[in-house]
Formats: sequence, C-alpha cells, structure tokens
Amino acid sequence: MTSLDHGALRAPGVSPVEREEPRSGGPARLADPRLLRQFAFIAGRWRAAPTGAALAVEDPATGEILGHVPDLGARETREAINAAEEAFAGWASLLPQERARFLRAWHDLIAENRADLATLMVLEQGKPYAEALGEIDYAASFVEWYAEEARRLVGEMPASHLPNRVMQVRREPVGVVAAITPWNFPCAMITRKAAAALAAGCPVVVRPASETPFSALALAELASRAGLPAGTFSVVTGRAEPIARELAENPKVRALSFTGSTEIGARLIAAAAPTIKRMSMELGGHAPFILFGDVDLDEAVEAALAAKFQTSGQDCLAANRIFVHEDICEPFLARFAARVKALKVGSGFEEGVEIGPLMHAHAVDKCAEHVKDALARGARLLAGGERHRRGPLFFTPTLLADCDEQMAIFAEETFGPVAAVTSFACESEVLARANASEYGLAAYLYSRDHDRIARMSRALAYGMVAVNCVTMTGAPIPFGGIKRSGLGREGGPHGIEEFTELKYVCAAFKAA
Ligand code: NAP
Repeated sequence: MTSLDHGALRAPGVSPVEREEPRSGGPARLADPRLLRQFAFIAGRWRAAPTGAALAVEDPATGEILGHVPDLGARETREAINAAEEAFAGWASLLPQERARFLRAWHDLIAENRADLATLMVLEQGKPYAEALGEIDYAASFVEWYAEEARRLVGEMPASHLPNRVMQVRREPVGVVAAITPWNFPCAMITRKAAAALAAGCPVVVRPASETPFSALALAELASRAGLPAGTFSVVTGRAEPIARELAENPKVRALSFTGSTEIGARLIAAAAPTIKRMSMELGGHAPFILFGDVDLDEAVEAALAAKFQTSGQDCLAANRIFVHEDICEPFLARFAARVKALKVGSGFEEGVEIGPLMHAHAVDKCAEHVKDALARGARLLAGGERHRRGPLFFTPTLLADCDEQMAIFAEETFGPVAAVTSFACESEVLARANASEYGLAAYLYSRDHDRIARMSRALAYGMVAVNCVTMTGAPIPFGGIKRSGLGREGGPHGIEEFTELKYVCAAFKAA
C-alpha cells in the first residue's frame, strides 16, 4: 500500500509524505535533542513538580520508558491560568499583524523541525512515521492559516434602527482559553485550537493527554523560541482529573476547548457550567461510509482502506460502518480483504509500516471483544480477527462482513483496525441506517449519480460529508460535528470566532 491517504495527513502543496526517510531510534536520535523537554512550561518557564512527582511516558510499540513529565495539579494549573490572565491585556492589545508575526515565526520553526517533531510523535504515539510527518504539516498549516486570519477579524455596522446613532458590533477576544487534547493527534489538536485563540488575542493553557506530552512540550519549546510572550502559551502536564477540573471550574478561563471522548466532554460541560464559559467540544464519531453500485470498485477499495485504517483506526473520522450496495458487495469484499491482509503491521519507524500499535491494552481488548461479539451474532471474518504477534498493543487488521445493528461494532466507536461491512438494497434504507446514530461527526458517500449525491448530502445528519473523496480536512474548513459529536467548529473563520465575543456599541451623535 502506497499510503493511507487521509485529509489529516496532507497539507495542501506538501509532497507525499511516504517519500521521507524515517529516523529510527529513541530520543537520542533527534537532530535537536532540546526538543525533548521533560518539564512543564508555565508562565514562560520550564517547571518540575514541587514534590518531584513525575509521570512516565512509554513507547507503545515497545513498552520502553521514553522519559518523564511532572505530575502537576490544580495549584500549578492556577498559576498557568493567572499568568495567562496577566498576559491577556498585552497580547490582546497588539495589532493583529504583530500577533501574526509571532504565529508566523512559530509556524516556521515547526516546519523547520518537522522531522524531529514526527520522530517524537512516533515514539510516544506509535503512528507510522509518514503519518506523523503528515500530522506535523497539518498542525503547522493551522498556525500559518491563523497567522493570516488574525488581521481579517472584522465587525459589523448595522443600519441604525434609532435616530442619530452609530452602531458597531465588534469582535473582541474572549480571554483566557483552556485546551484539553487527546493522544491520537498530539500536535494538530493543539495547534487547531491554540493558533485560532492566539490569533484572536487570547492566551492559551494546554493540558495534553498524559500519553503524548512530549509533542505538546516540543511545541511549547518552539513557541518560546518564536518569542511568544510569557503566559500566552503554557503546557501543564500531569494526571487529567485535577488539571481538567481546575480548567473547567476556574472562572478566569473564559473558553474551554476539548477534543476527546463524548463521555469526558459531557463531564467537562457539567463541571464548567457554573462559570458560564464558552465551550468547544470535538467529541466522538461513528462515521458511515456509503458505497453505491455505480462506483469504480478499485477506487472504492482504496478509499475505504484509507478512511478506516488511518492512525491504525484510532481516528474520530474513521469509517466505522461501511455500507456497500448489494450489487457490488461481494466483489468489493474480495478486493478489500486482499488489501486488508496486506497491510504491514509494526513499529512506526519501520519502512512501509501502515498499522502501528494501539495506545492502550483496553483498546486492544475492545477490538477483540467487538470481533467476538460480531462473530457470535453472525458476521463473517474475512481477514485478521486476532491480536498480533508483534506485541501486546498490536491488533491484526481485520475485516468483518455481514455486520448489522445488533452488533456492538455497529453501535460504538471501535477505535482500532477492525473494519465492519454491511450491504444495503436502496437509498432510503441506507440513509435511515447511516443516520441511526447518536453521533454526527463525519460521513462518506461514494456515487456517480448527481441527484442522489444532492439528496444524500443534504439528508445525512453529520457535520461533515465527504463525497467521492476521503481527504477533506484542512485549515480553512469548519471541522466539527452535531449531536453527541460536539459543539462548535475548529478551523477556518468559524474557528477563530469560537474565541471571540461580540460587543455592541451604540453611540449617539448630535444632529446638525
Ligand atoms: P478521552 O479519554 O476523552 O481523553 C481526551 C483528553 O481528556 C485527554 O487529555 C485525557 O487525558 C483527558 N481526560 C481523561 N479523563 C479525564 C477526566 N476524568 N477529566 C478530564 N479530562 C480527562 O479520549 P481519548 O481516548 O484520548 O481520545 C479518543 C476520543 O476522542 C474518541 O472518542 C475520538 O473520536 C475523539 N476524538 C475526537 C476528535 C474530533 O475532532 N472530534 C479528534 C480526535 C479524537 P489522559 O489522556 O491523560 O487520560
């Protein structure tokens, strides 16, 4: 397989990532070892835990301990929030083009250090090196895009409904922003939030996933080198609960932006409710992938492979339910099975690897349980189906046919390399089945019939619909879902608006 081509993996204009040479080895192999920081970054200073408490960070491919980060708590989180609040007035009062210069410098440093950042990501996250490089480019693209967008925040001057008044509607930065991010995209989920907030004039406190703090800390190192003022970008490491609780409950935090599971998102909304802050929630997905009978079969197989197995299946956009028209289902399955069986499993540093380790033992268990449950309820196993001999966190790429809504795999996110296929007879049937989900992040649709595309793309209850393509994400578009997939949008002009408040100014003047 040449590449798992997915929107998140390629910034526009970037050459195919699979041509890049992977750098093998541990942290010692970084061209710039100072990018591996084992401290938190708060108020412009590198900080250890006062007690010396630390959390180990492991390589999921080998179980080897890569290093440690401070296990900080509510007190240090408050310090970061206070520093952000102190930085707010100065940062917000800069001219947009001045904020843009900092962001541009940060972008350029991320781009210059993309190989090291990708190496760090493979070490702590496990994804194939080519995918990691793609994520760095994707992450950098948000910083670049929002550097440009900073100066395009505009207000409105409505026609006055009162005599002798000038009415302005201004967009002002909301204040201190907290960002809580997951491990599956350890850089891009940070820059997609932070670049937009910084461009709007808001300082940011990031709490990265405890599995992947080194990517976040490397971004902090580069932000510091780019000259971002103290307090504008802090990274607080430590166990999730005390830090996230402080970020949610502290009234000085005026916007909370979270990417992760629906369950934790709902808890954060509840914890933050008394402080009435702005919420952006990028939560779980359960994407349907719909293939009608008029598609090119080879193209469809490659698309399904990319949409399902990106990030080893640990992706909120992963095609979790693959619906194939009954006229082409068996030939599709035969070709898809051959491609799934050929996927190369291993460490993200090995040449040609397409499926890396999963992040947790419970993720591997969930894959095994979903397979077992589906087989017990009548599914057919066409590839894989078991743990992989490579190590405890590896699962063999798997294909199940004849799946249905009684199976757990059709009801929940699998978050692993297990593809579930079902057949359908007609448009109304597949539409009803695709929409029968509490999630509404993304849907994929393949057909050559323009009328059907128009009908289906309108009727699919999802925040994003990809038609005859898999690659759809990028800095300019509003990424986000509906229903239990979240609130708000990230990316594009809408992404910066999440970090602004509207202020209405009504000024009277004396008539001549
Ligand atoms: P998760 O368990 O919800 O974790 C996300 C973040 O929340 C991590 O930083 C995690 O820290 C933290 N967290 C865990 N327990 C917490 C608690 N009790 N209070 C506050 N914070 C807590 O999700 P995940 O397993 O990392 O990520 C997978 C989920 O994210 C999937 O559902 C996926 O669909 C979704 N996702 C959505 C998008 C999107 O844009 N819509 C993008 C990527 C992923 P620790 O890691 O330290 O536990």
